[in-house]
Amino acid sequence: MLVVSCGCRFEKGRIYTYIGEVVVSVNPYRAMNIYGRDTIEQYKGRELYERPPHLFAIADAAYKAMKRRNKDTCIVISGESGAGKTEASKYIMQYIAAITNPGQRAEVERVKNMLLKSNCVLEAFGNAKTNRNDNSSRFGKYMDINFDFKGDPIGGHINNYLLEKSRVIFQQEGERSFHSFYQGTNTFQLLVSSIDDGADFKAVADAMKVIGFTADELQTVYKVLATILHLGNLTFGVDGDTTLIENSKVVAVIGDLLATKEENVEKALLYRTVATGRDVIDKQHTAQEASYGRDALAKAMYERMFCWIVGRINDVIEVKNYDAKVHGKNTVIGVLDIYGFEIFQNNSFEQFCINYCNEKLQQLFIQLVLRQEQEEYQREGIPWKHIDFFNNQIIVDLVELQHKGIFSVLDEACMNVGKVTDKVFLQGLNSKLVNHAHYTSRKLSPTDKSLEFDRDFRVRHYAGNVVYSVVGFIDKNKDTLFQDFKRLLYNSSNPVLKVMWPEGKLRITEVTKRPLTAATLFKNSMIALVENLACKEPYYVRCIKPNDVKSPLLFEHERCRHQVEYLGLLENVRVRRAGFANRQEYPRFLQRYKMISEFTWPNHDLPSEKEAVKKLLQGCGFEQDVAYGKTKVFIRTPRTLFCLEEQRTEM
Ligand code: ATP
Ligand code: MG
Repeated sequence: MLVVSCGCRFEKGRIYTYIGEVVVSVNPYRAMNIYGRDTIEQYKGRELYERPPHLFAIADAAYKAMKRRNKDTCIVISGESGAGKTEASKYIMQYIAAITNPGQRAEVERVKNMLLKSNCVLEAFGNAKTNRNDNSSRFGKYMDINFDFKGDPIGGHINNYLLEKSRVIFQQEGERSFHSFYQGTNTFQLLVSSIDDGADFKAVADAMKVIGFTADELQTVYKVLATILHLGNLTFGVDGDTTLIENSKVVAVIGDLLATKEENVEKALLYRTVATGRDVIDKQHTAQEASYGRDALAKAMYERMFCWIVGRINDVIEVKNYDAKVHGKNTVIGVLDIYGFEIFQNNSFEQFCINYCNEKLQQLFIQLVLRQEQEEYQREGIPWKHIDFFNNQIIVDLVELQHKGIFSVLDEACMNVGKVTDKVFLQGLNSKLVNHAHYTSRKLSPTDKSLEFDRDFRVRHYAGNVVYSVVGFIDKNKDTLFQDFKRLLYNSSNPVLKVMWPEGKLRITEVTKRPLTAATLFKNSMIALVENLACKEPYYVRCIKPNDVKSPLLFEHERCRHQVEYLGLLENVRVRRAGFANRQEYPRFLQRYKMISEFTWPNHDLPSEKEAVKKLLQGCGFEQDVAYGKTKVFIRTPRTLFCLEEQRTEM
């Protein structure tokens, strides 16, 4: 039913639908004339149900809750790759920018401008063309917007999550590296690209200047991009016992770009310094190790630069010198736009992390929207028939549980001294997870056709089955970057590079700690993210991708049905239908509406506030549409609420 309804609406160009306070959005794949100034005016300050469903209505609801009730709120945007999350997040930010700062305060305008400009920069460095989406986010992004007591933006903060840095050295057929390479390096004449990246490049460079990146910083960014491209051309060979660089001219260029001596670059590429007891020796790499080091360097330089860019933006947008005693409470709206659930032809560590992240967010959705709702009815003693829904906690546990989960098994395999291979990891998984309902591998299910070789395992995710190849898991998790590179970059005479690589300061004998693995870092960041979201009032945008061919005309029912199902939207509808649109504590309700009834205005003589509310609602003829809980009154349909509001303003 929901799918059919979304489909009909889609065909009429109505891309938004509500389930309770959740907006379901279907990607129109064409420019829609529904985000202009006039539309913004229509939604500004209105209640959710007063206007046709729209992203702006949700943005407004989150804004109102923040402003009127001093609540920190968050807008969580989810859906698979290409479903329209990033576009939605940008419209939401534009809406908030448009409705705030009526007084045109210069500082607020500055902040708004920075917040909007930051999108363009982050997309250039963090997005890429994939087979699913020409502008696919290859990192997760959570942005807090801070507001002062007037409800005007005074700053923000961006958290970024796991950039898919392997893209720097390898792209699947038909895909590209990050946009920045094509944009930033056109001026270097190193890459020829089919897209008009030149124009985008200017916009990005301008945005970076506005944000406050200095000329030296911008230059360094280009130099890092160029270095990475040159690294891609480096090859290694052997001559007897010696490993050597085959195209040594490239090394000179890299030395120049990195503001360091050619021989330093060469040494870092061919040797690693190891401490054996008191001695420090240079150990020569094999050609294979050198290639590994080169790729790790390219990936790490890009990732480090990306994080540095986010940090620089944060420096500029972060709220400074805010004194709550003087200015009133500083409240927050968070906007989460994170990579959607992914199933590719070949799924690796990155897909595994991305899909785990989506499991975490689904779990939060279940807890906040589905379970909390039902639990509240129970707590309040409202008659309620329990609605079953699939609880994906079991899959979250499968991934993240200490000692037993897939991440733990992976970390353990990485700790092994001696032979650490992806196979060892797979064996570990098989022995620990043999009985888990959501895990299988070829060994455990030799008849399963999806698992062709003894190198795949399958997870039954809430959104579908995904087969992961273990190849590369160990390397990507260890994420080793030889210390020599860190020292090389730290010792550059380019101060911007130096800032990016502070740990290069440590001498070889001072480095003792084993760095946390990529999986552990990611897990920790996801747990922190979910904790942060859980203490805010959530608003949801669930994006649906209507087809796989980016067509504005095609609504594939089966495809959409699947998304509606795994997003838990049907349960969501059922809980909502059976439930109540609004609930308020008795004293609050009475405070707001007591003037519309002679029994309660100006004071009531009933034994309790609950009784008074009953009397009031009976008098208005809304008895059928409400239920009385222990501490709250529950209102089934929004219409009743609007009628009450109307009567109140007529008084
Ligand atoms: P990923 O997970 O890969 O980052 P995503 O969900 O962020 O995907 P978007 O990049 O937002 O997807 O959308 C993909 C494309 O779909 C956009 O580049 C745009 O062409 C189109 N699109 C999405 N939303 C809209 C919209 N509201 N109006 C018009 N076109 C849209
Ligand atoms: Mg995106």
